[in-house]
Amino acid sequence: MSENKTLHPQTLAIRGGKTQTAYNEHHQALFLTSSFMFDSAEDGAALFAKTKPGFTYSRTANPTVSAFQERMAAMEGAQAGIATATGMAAIQAALMTFLSAGDHLISSRSLFGTTAGFLSGHLRRFGIEITFVAQTDIQAWRDAVRPNTKMLFLETPSNPLGEVADVRALANLAHEHGALLVVDNCFCSSAVQQPLRLGADLSVQSATKAVDGQGRVLGGMVCGRADLVEQIGLYVNACGLSLAPFNAWILLSGVETVHLRTQEQSAAALQIADWLKNQDKVLKVYYAGLPEHPQAHLVAQQQSCGGMVLAFEVEGGLEAAWRVIDRVRIFSKTANFGDVRSTITHPWTTTHGRMSAQDKQEAGIREGLIRLSVGLEHVGDLIDDLHYALAD
Ligand SMILES: *Cc1c(COP(=O)(O)O)cnc(C)c1O
Repeated sequence: MSENKTLHPQTLAIRGGKTQTAYNEHHQALFLTSSFMFDSAEDGAALFAKTKPGFTYSRTANPTVSAFQERMAAMEGAQAGIATATGMAAIQAALMTFLSAGDHLISSRSLFGTTAGFLSGHLRRFGIEITFVAQTDIQAWRDAVRPNTKMLFLETPSNPLGEVADVRALANLAHEHGALLVVDNCFCSSAVQQPLRLGADLSVQSATKAVDGQGRVLGGMVCGRADLVEQIGLYVNACGLSLAPFNAWILLSGVETVHLRTQEQSAAALQIADWLKNQDKVLKVYYAGLPEHPQAHLVAQQQSCGGMVLAFEVEGGLEAAWRVIDRVRIFSKTANFGDVRSTITHPWTTTHGRMSAQDKQEAGIREGLIRLSVGLEHVGDLIDDLHYALAD
């Protein structure tokens, strides 16, 4: 894929990673097969020994899945990528491949709830030490480094408050200590941000969100250096975390419009954030695209736009937040984001519901917080919907 180096990510999202058959189909073909036949016993031996390229079994590799992961890797500016069944499978694979008992992980405290549960509830069971730090406090990351620190992990912007980490500074810190920097790129998607270009070693994301964009299937991706991705591939195969070919085929269509969608949805998110700032009942708006965002200079360096997700806090706590959610008529009440349909959710009791009240308070998530993912409906209709929901 060396010729891809000069192509823009928009082009790669459509033209990158294609596996063509003898039929010359224009759209990527869907290979719904669990295994592949060998021409002879010797041919089977060569395929398994990897002395001959080709496919043996779809848990290990499948042409539709390969096309998807090559395309995503090209968009991220990565040497290689491996697709997984879900975003959580991508995170598990990236972490478990490189962390062993006795190793130390430093993670941002501002995490997607399920990720926080995976780290605290599972990684720790395997003897992996974890220190949680404030996403934007570089000194706290520096102070947390130990001789056995093997990895730094974060999401930027974070879910749901949109805190932006300095990826280059954290990559430098990781590399000074021989550790890897892993970035969850889910909030932006590869269309808006490419963490590897900022120095990260691995970029993981849930393709379930903006890459699909239409709320149909689950999927995940890990992108990075070829030698790292090769090791992760062995873990994905051994643990059966592979992406299903049908889901890869859906995601290959989704990704073709991800640039257009993220730009349009981000522009609408900015309009909604601006409008919310001026509403009496709104205490605070959290959106990476606002010029007054505390890390606006980093947003400008790292992201092509603010993204489609924003959050705001209403006065009156949980009761007031639930009232707004129950009164909207267009926004879907669902925890997914990145969809063409706008969604609304209450992080305190849904996405972050399993975190303790104290952990949520420490992460800055309040009971009155509402998260919006802005879709492709007319922005005027969405603002009218929120206006009605916020009214007395
Ligand atoms: C949704 C999400 C995940 C998990 O992805 P799934 O595809 O649901 O497994 C991980 N990180 C972030 C930031 C997410 O929003």
